[in-house]
Amino acid sequence: MPSREEDALSLARGPRDFVCSARECEKPAVVGIAWQNPRIHSGRHKTWLACEEHREFLHDYLKLRSFPVAEVALSDLDTAHPFPAEADPI
Ligand SMILES: [Zn+2]
Repeated sequence: MPSREEDALSLARGPRDFVCSARECEKPAVVGIAWQNPRIHSGRHKTWLACEEHREFLHDYLKLRSFPVAEVALSDLDTAHPFPAEADPI
């Protein structure tokens, strides 16, 4: 792991940047949840943030819709490519 990421975390960490994406939840996020709607996102993905409490909830919410879902570490949010373009599920 490059030390750049640690620096970024310690400097940029703030409640505003890492708050859970669940409705009306203001808890600090512990993980990113990357997801993709194959019908509207071609090769791109969206990322929600989840606190420990909503991690499973958000995950299941997306899975129920048959969207590809993957968890991403908060430190990897900007660089992660959880759904490589080569891996076409269809
Ligand atoms: Zn939450």
